[in-house]
Formats: sequence, C-alpha cells, structure tokens
Amino acid sequence: MIKNIIENLPGFNCGVCGFRKCEEFADALINSTSELNNCTILHQERFANNRNTLNEYLNVKHCVDAPKETIYGLVDKYEADFILEPLPGEHSCRETLYPFSKEEINTGDIIRYRPLACPMIHFAKVLNTNKGLITVSMIGPCNRLDGNMDFKDVGVCMVGGFEGIIKGKLPQVCDTVRFLPSHCMMQKVHSGVVVQLENRKVSIEGIHLAVWAPPVKRD
Ligand code: SF4
Repeated sequence: MIKNIIENLPGFNCGVCGFRKCEEFADALINSTSELNNCTILHQERFANNRNTLNEYLNVKHCVDAPKETIYGLVDKYEADFILEPLPGEHSCRETLYPFSKEEINTGDIIRYRPLACPMIHFAKVLNTNKGLITVSMIGPCNRLDGNMDFKDVGVCMVGGFEGIIKGKLPQVCDTVRFLPSHCMMQKVHSGVVVQLENRKVSIEGIHLAVWAPPVKRD
C-alpha cells in the first residue's frame, strides 16, 4: 500500500504538506494523521489521475481499517469515536481556552494552567489570542524539567474547543462526539460537538470531561 501511495505523490519533496519528504507524507496518510489536500501540488491538473488513484487507495484503507479500531479511555474505560491527533507540524492538538485570569496573555507566551475539571497541570504555547479566547498547543509538562523556561501562571482555564486531525471514525458536523486527545496525560475520553469538518481536520466545541456511559438510543 505505502509503495503505491509514494508512487502516486508528485515526488518534489518540497515540504508544502508539512513533511520533509513525500515518503513521510505517505506514512502520515496511511496513519490518518494528515490528509491528501495538504499536498497542494496534487491540485494541479497534470496530477488529476494521481489524485484519483490516491483517493481510491486511501478510501479502501479507511473501509478496511475502520471496523477494527476500538478506542478506549484509560481512566474511564469508555469507548471513544476517535483519537484527536495534532495538526501537521504541531506537538499536540490545539485547545481553545477561556482564561479566568486577568493577566495579559500574548501570542508566543508560555502559560501554565489547569483545565477546569482536570487534575493535571498543563504547559502550553499561545498560538493566537482573539477577544479573550486563546488558542494553545501543549509543550509540557515534560519540557518543564529543564527548569529554565519562563512561563505565566494563569490558573484555571475553561477549555472551550479542540482542533486536530481525526484518527478513527469520521463524524458529521453537529454530531456530539466522544474523543481521546492524543496528548491527554490521563487518556480520558472528552466529549463535544463538531462545529467544523474538512476531510479529517476537525474543530470541536462545547468540551466536557464529565463523560459517562453512552445513553441507549431509541428508534
Ligand atoms: S507537498 Fe506533495 S510534493 Fe511536496 S513534499 Fe509534500 S507530498 Fe511531496
């Protein structure tokens, strides 16, 4: 399978997809941590046949793989619909936070915080700020062990959203989903509502950690 995918990628090793080489991108496609659209070279007309062939290979893979995968939270043992992986080139999926602290927080800051309802202390880099909301990507706690990192302690934050790449069953927009952020130190199942979906890239809001056994569906 991987050989067929590599053969149909442009072979430019240009890095536009977020990977240094087409082979690395092929690996990410197989593992569902990236998506075909991230190779914008493939959008060119001359690669139309390659694109169709790649879509066929990847669709077959997802059909074959999907039923095998059952994802469980480590703490609660509940089943999740999918694992949420980082966007290409990032260390964790993104979290959107509502900080309760009045301290000024800027893009590029390193913050220490505890998500509401989570016992774990997090260290993260601020990727952007928008009207009181901040979007972060996790960098710790392991990176703290060097002891030299400057950070702002912003206390408890409410986690409003997640953004990342789906590994597992694809939902639809507006679905309430149960997912496992790959960076979650407790490997606890989270829930939320899908507000944006573009291939495997997803934004989930209305995050809740108080997830329990799923309700029995009535027809
Ligand atoms: S963008 Fe396409 S051509 Fe460039 S390295 Fe990635 S897969 Fe290869």
